[in-house]
Amino acid sequence: MPSSERFHVRVTKDHLVFSAGHFITIDLPTGEICERLHGHNWRVAVEVSGPLDRNQYVFDFIALRDNLQAILDPLDHRMLLPTLHPSIRVESGPLETEVRYTSRRWVFPSDECVLLPVEQTTAELIARWIGQTLDDRLIRQGWPRIPHLRIEVEENFGQWAIWERQ
Ligand SMILES: [Zn+2]
Repeated sequence: MPSSERFHVRVTKDHLVFSAGHFITIDLPTGEICERLHGHNWRVAVEVSGPLDRNQYVFDFIALRDNLQAILDPLDHRMLLPTLHPSIRVESGPLETEVRYTSRRWVFPSDECVLLPVEQTTAELIARWIGQTLDDRLIRQGWPRIPHLRIEVEENFGQWAIWERQ
């Protein structure tokens, strides 16, 4: 392949979406504030680039699509909570998950929560978590490592966060 050439494969589908609740804290010059709990219809796209393999494609479309769907489905109609936030405390029991931030407190049914190992449930860090989870799944399934992976997460119409790795 000429060195100036690069192939990309991109997958985004109407069903590669999930509706979920979250809130983040925002560190302002006047002090840290906490958003009200709210939700988004998050849309996800994956893009892979690199050389062509022996089948003359960059990566298997179906494997990308199905693995992404399997990662997103458990997030749908859930409350997304960060476990690595420096000041949001998340304690999950068999029935209830309690969340505390300064004097505020929320309690959710545990089976309606997804605890993510991120500092904040921003679209950026959700994109990274999806990308790293996708990498782990594909490697476990015996696929070759994707040369260049890019995950895009749309939080609101026209507002995308993008994570990529070489
Ligand atoms: Zn939000």
